[in-house]
Amino acid sequence: MPKCRFCAAPLNQLLVDLGMSPLCESYVPAEKLNSMEPFYPLHVYICERCFLVQIEEYVAPEEIFAQYAYFSSYSTSWRQQAKAYTEKMRRELKLSDRSLVVEVGSNDGYLLEYFFHAGVPVLGIEPAANVAKAAEARGVPTLVKFFGRQTAKELVAEGRQPDLLLGANVLAQIPDLNDCVAGMKILLKPGGVITIEFPHLMRLIADNQFDTIYHEHFYYFSFLAAERIFAFHGLTLFDVEELPTHGGSLRIYARHADDSSKLLTERAKELRTQETSIGTGTLAYYRSFTEQVHETKRRLLEFLIDAKRTRKTIAGYGAPGKGNTLLNYCGIRTDFIDYTVDMNPYKQGKFLPGTHIPIYHPDKIAETKPDYVLILPWNLKDEIMQQLSFIRDWGGQFVVPIPTVTVS
Ligand SMILES: [Zn+2]
Repeated sequence: MPKCRFCAAPLNQLLVDLGMSPLCESYVPAEKLNSMEPFYPLHVYICERCFLVQIEEYVAPEEIFAQYAYFSSYSTSWRQQAKAYTEKMRRELKLSDRSLVVEVGSNDGYLLEYFFHAGVPVLGIEPAANVAKAAEARGVPTLVKFFGRQTAKELVAEGRQPDLLLGANVLAQIPDLNDCVAGMKILLKPGGVITIEFPHLMRLIADNQFDTIYHEHFYYFSFLAAERIFAFHGLTLFDVEELPTHGGSLRIYARHADDSSKLLTERAKELRTQETSIGTGTLAYYRSFTEQVHETKRRLLEFLIDAKRTRKTIAGYGAPGKGNTLLNYCGIRTDFIDYTVDMNPYKQGKFLPGTHIPIYHPDKIAETKPDYVLILPWNLKDEIMQQLSFIRDWGGQFVVPIPTVTVS
């Protein structure tokens, strides 16, 4: 039986079973279309002891991250949010040329770049060599490493302890959660602040975001579960913000447990009360999720079958990880969707993992004039519908699959 990755209790409560799925970032090049493709179970468990929602480890982390295709700097709304965050932190923590900001999972350096241009020294830590190289190219010094106790100790020995230690959407992708959080405790300067962002489990459940579950995301945190994990490692969560990112994320603020200069904020108290009252610490809260997921699959297939019976054409928009979970779980291939498009040049010319739907440049939509455009990154739907408003010229409509299938 699998064990909880935080508290080691046996995992025997299933949150949802999404069947067998390929790694959602393993885009298939044309020359590999006839090769075997590995599929792994996508089973999500909930720990009965600490209520950490998690997937079993089926795939070696090296296999996932060696070929990681993801470059973060493509969404406009995301960049605006990143800029606002860095300005706020510089102001509140009075960061200067004598400070240090370290980011765990710094990707291509898009976030640290804002601090760097404001004259604040930065250091990125990123295990994927290809994206780390892109960060260096824009002036963000980057260590190509997994983060944990060992890396933290090395940096402390060099006298490089950060005033601000941050991680944006990285905690869910850390194979060894305890090693990572323990490393943060070691690395943080006395009096320093940690901020970590992750998709909020409450939003995932309430808004039916089951497609954000994939092998690369090992954990799905509630505020209470995160608080328990950080407290175990001597870190106190003293503040939290709710963000619109990825359909609803939390940005938690942590400090050393013995740093009494930062008081628990009202909004942290409120969220804790709210989560307690809806029951995130009880199994009953999670019971209806499976049926909700099954019903979404039935509704989406119902729409697609009707559309194809009336000879409509359907294209996808975007090739995000979440789209791959959705399409593989529902069994949607080129029998329903002719192709998808993506702004990311790395993905263009390749095929979606598992479903082998081809990925083109977004210009393909204006060329082929599909009746429906299925928006896979539904979290960016407003931005996308605005960009593609020209599909109305030929009577085209948008389909958004989550939280419920809507056509407009
Ligand atoms: Zn546990």
